[in-house]
Parts: sequence; structure tokens; C-alpha cells
Amino acid sequence: MTATKILLEESEIPTHWYNVIADMPSPPPPPLAPDGKPVGPEALSAIFPDGVIQQEVSSERWIPIPEPVREVYRLWRPSPLYRAHRLEAALGTPAKIFYKYEGVSPAGSHKPNTAVAQAYYNKQAGTKRLATETGAGQWGSALALAGQLFGLDIRVYMVKVSYDQKPYRRSMMQAWGAEVLASPTDRTEAGRKVLAKDPGSPGSLGVAISEAVEEAASREDTNYCLGSVLNHVLLHQTVMGQEAKKQLAMVGEYPDVVFACCGGGSNFGGIAFPFFADKAAGKHIRLVAVEPTSCPTLTRGRYTYDFGDAVGLTPLVKMYTLGHDFIPPTIHAGGLRYHGDSPLVCQLYHEGLIEAMAVPQLATFEAGVTFARTEGIVPAPEPCHAIRACMDEALRCKKAGESKVLLLNLCGHGHFDMSAYDKYFSRELQDYEYPEEAVAKALERLPKVG
Ligand SMILES: *Cc1c(COP(=O)(O)O)cnc(C)c1O
Repeated sequence: MTATKILLEESEIPTHWYNVIADMPSPPPPPLAPDGKPVGPEALSAIFPDGVIQQEVSSERWIPIPEPVREVYRLWRPSPLYRAHRLEAALGTPAKIFYKYEGVSPAGSHKPNTAVAQAYYNKQAGTKRLATETGAGQWGSALALAGQLFGLDIRVYMVKVSYDQKPYRRSMMQAWGAEVLASPTDRTEAGRKVLAKDPGSPGSLGVAISEAVEEAASREDTNYCLGSVLNHVLLHQTVMGQEAKKQLAMVGEYPDVVFACCGGGSNFGGIAFPFFADKAAGKHIRLVAVEPTSCPTLTRGRYTYDFGDAVGLTPLVKMYTLGHDFIPPTIHAGGLRYHGDSPLVCQLYHEGLIEAMAVPQLATFEAGVTFARTEGIVPAPEPCHAIRACMDEALRCKKAGESKVLLLNLCGHGHFDMSAYDKYFSRELQDYEYPEEAVAKALERLPKVG
């Protein structure tokens, strides 16, 4: 029997982040102001520190990881790669399934990989406070942790429906010293605007982003941090793919297919991009982003310029979008609720260099439960999407008698998401396909460029 856990030494924590732009046939088009003119990096300086802005626009292939960031990474990195022997046996598949497990971070997901870097660059720049949003709670937790480690005050606008559903995520953020508010709040213009239209609004990631950006833009001592979507975030996450590649090489394997769930694209980019470097150099490998049918951004959205937030404070970004005022159904239990996606992921998808698929909610939880009952780890609802897709591929391999090597990103554990599992066990969850008319309607409200 080959190894179950494949482990690296602390000294093997990557020394550089990998910037996929260097290997893209065509980089994503630039962000635009509403007048249609490209937005330069200087426009970002009201809410981001220099170190982060430089990375956002960089085309350097390798960017050094500062030593203080690697020092913090040592608390949980390198993360383990597992061979899913028991899941393979349960499925009776000849495929080899490997999973990279990011639930070993203090916050329980991959998010601290970028939170720590962003807190570091803000501290360097003399920032005192950071404002951010959180949907499912993982990003707020990650930034609360990172803020504590680098001595920054953190305020988190938490989407109201999650604030109510996940009280322990809030307690966790408070344990790390952060202040947590249920969004929409009446403290910002953006929040008041939403509450005026709908006093009982469950909130959305887009609205919470608007609130946090507004606060950061209007306070000299405060910057903003985003947990996904932007180039620098995906850059920081590439430590996962680099480690996974090394770990697979230790057991003499290379993946045929890589699966990751896709909300804003950061855990997908983080695991997939270091393999994309090989693909760009001619290697055959499939990279598959998996999203929910209730928020089908890549598979059913339109590739066009749209705002990153709900009320239109951010520059226009070219991405697959369901429309910036898209409010995902509250029946959807996962955290993959953003209306858009990373421009890097979108451009690669648009060019057919990566794949995307959507999976329904019930089959997703079924896969998560199968995973928990075989491998032991209770996955967060988000990576259950990748597990579903990977299991389906393993079952196809069984039919075809193929022993492909499959890699999936188990980007977080589900210990704070048990209310979603409760709903699944009590049969309250339903499959939900976002209606075509609603997609078409939201797309009618896309901004006119120029
Ligand atoms: C935030 C989060 C996601 C969704 O964001 P991506 O940027 O698409 O990775 C998925 N899974 C987990 C565990 C998360 O914390």
C-alpha cells in the first residue's frame, strides 16, 4: 500500500508565488472606469497598500514571498496531501484520488494563505485598520487571524443570512479580536440604500463588499481586503498547487485532472495555476472549476464588463457575471454565492484552456457525506462540489477501466457549517437551478461601458 499522507518539511514551504499571467496567451483586459477608460493602479491606492497593488498588475512569473509571511505559514504549511484510499475502495474505481487538505489552517480553510500576505503588506504601509466582508465566514475568520498576528484592527461586514446561521464563525472572529457587523448595516450609504428598498434583506456578498469598500475609501487609517477574485489573491494561493505538485512527484504521480470548487476562483486558481504552467508548456492536463447550479457564473453567465460589487463602487471588471445585483437564493447552503469570478479564471475559461461545470446541491451534499464516511474529514459545503465532480470522474474511470490520477482541492473543513448538513439530513435542502429569466433580467441591468 502506498502512502496515505504525503508530507513536506517546513523548509519546503514555497519561497515564491507563481503568477499565471506570465504564461497566459492573452492576459485579461484591464479594469475600466464607467467612462470606458482603463483604471490605472493609482486608482487603487485609496484602499490597497503599494505592495498589493504592484502584485495586482505584475506580469513577473515568480514573486518572492516575504520571510515574515513564510514564518506565519509555518503554523500550518506545508499542508498535507492525502491519497483517498478508502474513498477509492468505496467507489470501486481504478482511478487514484488525491486531495490537498487546507482545513489544517487555524481558520479551517485556504483563506489565510492570502489573508496573512495582505495583512503583512498593509502593516508595512502603516495601515492601522482593515475593513472587509465575509459571506460564509471563512474570509472574515482568516483576516481576523491575520490582523491579530500583524497587529491590525479588523472590522468585518458579515452577510446577514450567514451572521444568523453561523454564530460560531462570529465568535471565532471575535476570539481573534475582530469586530463583526451584520450586513446590510445602517452605518454606510450602501447599506442604507439596500435597507430602504428591502428592510428584511438577507444581504449578499456584493452588498457587504460595497459597505467595506465605502468605509475603507472614506477613512484615511483604513484599507480594504478582498478574500478572492483579484489577481493578487489568486497569486498568494498558488502555494497550494506548488506544494501539491511536489507531493505528487514524491509518490511518482502527476494528475490527469484537477478539480476545485469555484466561488470567486481563489482556491481553484491556487491549486490549478501551477499545473497550468505545465499545460502552457505542452503537457496534457485538465483543470476543472466546479460551481453550484444555483449560482452558475461560468457555465451560464455572460463574459462582459460588470461591477465587482452590488451598488457599483468598484471599477468595471471583465468577467463571467450573473449581473452585479444578482442575489443568490438563500436556500443554497454553500458559500459559492458571488455574481462574478476572477478575471484570470474567466479569461482562461473564455479561451477554452480550463473547464467549468455546475453540480446540483443534493448530489453535492451526498458526495460530502460519502467523503466523511470514508476519509473521515467532514468537508465544507463548498469543496463538496469538487468532491462530487471528482467522484463522478472516478466512476467514469470505473466504467472505462481507466486508472487516471485525480487531484481535488479540499479547501476547508465543515465544522462551522453543520447547520447546512442538518438541513440536508432533515431533507430541507432542495436542488435549485437558477431560472433562465432571472439570469436574463439581471443581465439587462449590466452597466453600459463608455
Ligand atoms: C471562500 C471559500 C470558497 C470560495 O472562494 P474561492 O475564491 O472560489 O475559493 C470555497 N471554499 C472555501 C472553504 C472557502 O473558504
